[in-house]
Amino acid sequence: MFRATPSTGRKNAAHFSAPYRGVRLQREIVKFQLEKFNRNISEEELIDDLKKSFETLRKNSISFSFRSYSEIGKFSSSTISTRFGSWNKALEAAGIEVMEEKNISDVGLFLNLENVWVILGRQPVTRDMVKPLSKYSSHTYSERFGSWRKALSSFVDYINEEEPPISQEIIQETPTTKSIKRRTSRNISDRMRFRILSRDGFTCQSCGASPIKERGVELHVDHVLPWSKGGETEESNLQTKCKQCNLGKGNAFNQ
Ligand SMILES: [Zn+2]
Repeated sequence: MFRATPSTGRKNAAHFSAPYRGVRLQREIVKFQLEKFNRNISEEELIDDLKKSFETLRKNSISFSFRSYSEIGKFSSSTISTRFGSWNKALEAAGIEVMEEKNISDVGLFLNLENVWVILGRQPVTRDMVKPLSKYSSHTYSERFGSWRKALSSFVDYINEEEPPISQEIIQETPTTKSIKRRTSRNISDRMRFRILSRDGFTCQSCGASPIKERGVELHVDHVLPWSKGGETEESNLQTKCKQCNLGKGNAFNQ
């Protein structure tokens, strides 16, 4: 693939947006020329340069992307994509986490943190934040919130925020043609779910199973009186159950 490379070094510096200025450019200053065919370059060389660039960018707290690699990489991002089939496949081959950190919403980060927390049954520490358990590294959280500690405290604020009030009453049609007015929807919000799990100490309220004691225990939050039978989705009617106990119970309310 032909690609014209811009000529001077000075121009380059001005061309970089602010976050790039601290990065020492590895690219040689070259006269205007067409880029060489990269056909003879081995995949190892491409991977090496991807890794090197990834480290350089990471040290400067810049997300690794198609665009940021283009700024400092020895090869063009499109050359890399072509060779590996896609940009993401190239990153995979280089063992670089595929993350579009800038596009993840805070809520997306909170949901991931919540998920890790629930799987562990305890507050995660930075070394827990690795794949496959966590989709995003602790670095991503520190970058977004200022520090890991601040990320945790923002998460707690998020969890404790009041739910938006339900604006209209839900009328549930039952087989007996009697309509029941509902105050809450059946759906348990992620925040409420987390609050219940936390209240119950991440422990099944029927059998005592907990991921803290046994890895792999899956916890659910369940209505005590089923919603279909008039039970509301509120903290007093919710409880933590392990998957086994919850599936065993189903919808048969007979306590
Ligand atoms: Zn259980």
